Amino acid sequence: MAAIAMHIVLAQLTEGGQWAVVVGAVVLAVLMLAVLVAVNRSIRKLVYAARRLAEGDLSYRVAVRGPVPLAALATSLNQMAGQMQDRLETVVQNRNELDAVLSSMVEGVLAVDMDERVLNLNKAAATMLDLDPQQAIGRPIREAVRNAALQVYVAQTLGDQAPVEDELTLRVTDRSDAAGEDRYLQAHSAILRDAAGHRIGAMLVLHDVTALRRLEAMRRDFVANVSHEVKTPVSAVKAAVETLMEDEAITREDAERFHKIIARQADRLTAIVDDLLSLARIEQQSGRIYAELQDELVAPVLRAACDTCQAHAEQKQIQLDLQCDPAQRAALCPPLLEQAIVNLVDNAIKYSGAGTRVTVRAAVEAEEVVVSVTDEGRGIEPEHLPRIFERFYRTDRARSRSLGGTGLGLSIVKHVAEAHGGRVSVTSEVDRGSTFRIHLLPEVAEGETAVTVAEP
Ligand code: ADP
Repeated sequence: MAAIAMHIVLAQLTEGGQWAVVVGAVVLAVLMLAVLVAVNRSIRKLVYAARRLAEGDLSYRVAVRGPVPLAALATSLNQMAGQMQDRLETVVQNRNELDAVLSSMVEGVLAVDMDERVLNLNKAAATMLDLDPQQAIGRPIREAVRNAALQVYVAQTLGDQAPVEDELTLRVTDRSDAAGEDRYLQAHSAILRDAAGHRIGAMLVLHDVTALRRLEAMRRDFVANVSHEVKTPVSAVKAAVETLMEDEAITREDAERFHKIIARQADRLTAIVDDLLSLARIEQQSGRIYAELQDELVAPVLRAACDTCQAHAEQKQIQLDLQCDPAQRAALCPPLLEQAIVNLVDNAIKYSGAGTRVTVRAAVEAEEVVVSVTDEGRGIEPEHLPRIFERFYRTDRARSRSLGGTGLGLSIVKHVAEAHGGRVSVTSEVDRGSTFRIHLLPEVAEGETAVTVAEP
């Protein structure tokens, strides 16, 4: 445009027309002003767009219809913003995916830099190490987690070239238990490197093996307990047999006494083996039992258990009472529940004096059907109650043995209750008596999947 105007002015100048020169100059000036204004507006738009991009608004696009070079600059700016936005979205998506993976992991993941400062950690690591992630990030690991084994492990990992594997023991202080308890963490480590391959820190992967260690300890205890329980009758049998074999001058009465010892100890061994087998069977089948519970009347099961124990009760002059609504129903496996009730009633009779009463009752409490066995016997000291359902736990070992107990009866009751999807509870007062309860589901749970029963 400006070139055409100039051409006109020159042409008119050469023709000598003064008015034409003036008009041409004015037109030229107006055109140049218009161009300047357009350029200025475009540059301001570009500056504004650059500022928006610098502030992080990558969705902003600039539209320039002005001079060609400025329009091209605007197009490049828009393309650059688009590319940056795509890359940022990819980075954010990758980070979100990584966060989702890390936070859904059961393993704890913790990254530290070369100065042993926490770079990042996932939810599982925060739980295992009892940390608040917001407070831990940026702090030296020795301040965030006060555990010497972890500090040594981190230092060793940062100092070594190869991955390190170790087991750490953390003492977790539970607010309700000042002594705290040990948590066992299996740790694996890897060196963190930047894009250029330089070491920038280490990553720790922590696996909580506390439950596994507890289970191992429980299995060790169990084997030790079984060996101990079996050893006693076996030793008694061995001693009696040796005496019978070696003492040629043994009297008939003494021989009979030893035969009785052998018979009693054999009965004891049979009782232990029977109880162990029952326990193993219930544990193994508990998921299936739960899945196969039937909606059954409770009273016939309680009546059958009472009938089984009636002779024992009469022997000890104990009155056995049954209180149960004949129409009361619950989700049951009758033979299994009967076995549990027999164990409870048998204990109630065993640990009560003559002339007392044992009551077997079923009642609905807080949406549960609660079957209880109450006695007026010697009761249980409060310190024993938390462990009373453990295998082989007895308040008085000698008394239990002399009464023919195996120490497994209550453990069987607990497993039966859990196989029913329920639980056990106990209240007791020394010299006043005890009440053991089995809490059952009132109805068969629809569409429930089988559960596995936890170890005691
Ligand atoms: P046991 O074969 O020794 O009776 P249990 O597992 O049935 O084994 O019971 C564990 C311990 O709990 C018993 O040794 C006894 O000390 C205590 N106990 C169980 N039931 C009663 C009860 N009704 N009254 C008092 N103590 C009981």
